[in-house]
Amino acid sequence: MFRAKLDSFSNYSTPIFEHLVKADANENLLDYPEDLKVLINYALQEHIKSLCFYPEINSQPLKEELAKFYGLEKENFIIGNGSDQLIQLIIQAACEKDDFIFTLYPSFTMYKITAELFDVNHSFIDITQNWEIDVEKVIKKIGQNDKIKVVFIDTPNNPTGIALEYEKLKLIAESFPERLIIIDNAYGEYCDIDYLDLVLKNKNVILLKTFSKIGFAGIRCGYGIANEKIIENLHKVKPPYNVNTLTQQIAITVLENFNKLKDNIELIKSERLRMTRSLQEFYFILPSQANFISIVDEEADSIFDYLKEKKILVKKFNMGDKKLLRITLGKPKDNDIILENLISYRRGK
Ligand SMILES: *Cc1c(COP(=O)(O)O)cnc(C)c1O
Repeated sequence: MFRAKLDSFSNYSTPIFEHLVKADANENLLDYPEDLKVLINYALQEHIKSLCFYPEINSQPLKEELAKFYGLEKENFIIGNGSDQLIQLIIQAACEKDDFIFTLYPSFTMYKITAELFDVNHSFIDITQNWEIDVEKVIKKIGQNDKIKVVFIDTPNNPTGIALEYEKLKLIAESFPERLIIIDNAYGEYCDIDYLDLVLKNKNVILLKTFSKIGFAGIRCGYGIANEKIIENLHKVKPPYNVNTLTQQIAITVLENFNKLKDNIELIKSERLRMTRSLQEFYFILPSQANFISIVDEEADSIFDYLKEKKILVKKFNMGDKKLLRITLGKPKDNDIILENLISYRRGK
């Protein structure tokens, strides 16, 4: 009844067990500021009466707000049911069967999963040896394969947290004007590098952003920023009404009041520094520019189990001979619990 490849296909999943501290999915779990909560509530109430209608088919109201927010035109935006959906639309719009996408390894797993689903191949460069992105190697590898139609670079990278320098990404974008270069900036708010200029200066670049990592994973809303020709083509494969009315209203309210989220974002950044400093003498911590820190450790499996025993949920990655634990930063008191337990693991308690 189903495609043969589904027999061996497993979609994204994340194990969940009873926990005290949830640090596995890079959500921002800090409390919303009270005034923002009130405004969201108000926006929802206002729009209950419009729930009998379909939402605007291409999310125009939200696009208008984004255009204001970024100082661009609404034709520069596409809105997705999470940026996950945009990853799918990009592959659908750009790749024929048997074409390739290119990613870093490791990187966000949805690129590969989505490509597989559409019978698109996957080419990658392994960064696990010294956790550095060798741009010359990346450019060489892409250059050798004409069938690579889309290059996905998540920066800051998930799961390492490492951000790619602007100039390096510029070099990649300029090297391949005929291919789509996707800058997945899901953690952009936690990072000091602003890549928006690359979209404005190159006709092949899409910047992907999301509300998920700044406290609104539950609304499922992501967006792409690119020149209008790209946006027009992506809309050709977008399902109609893909973003619901309430999601759009919450997203609009968040954008209008973005400054109210600044404290939450800054707190996570300062927690990142605190946690990194406190753990450095015990663990190898990657230099993160995201809302998580990652530990590379041969004992990742047993650290994971130890934390699980203490009801702390983190995410574990196995990559060849390297193992990594990705720990989402949350409330300081939760970070403290993680810290204490990681240190007591090392001390063999
Ligand atoms: C979390 C994440 C996404 C998914 O974002 P949604 O908007 O929740 O679909 C995309 N890219 C990267 C790199 C992520 O870590």
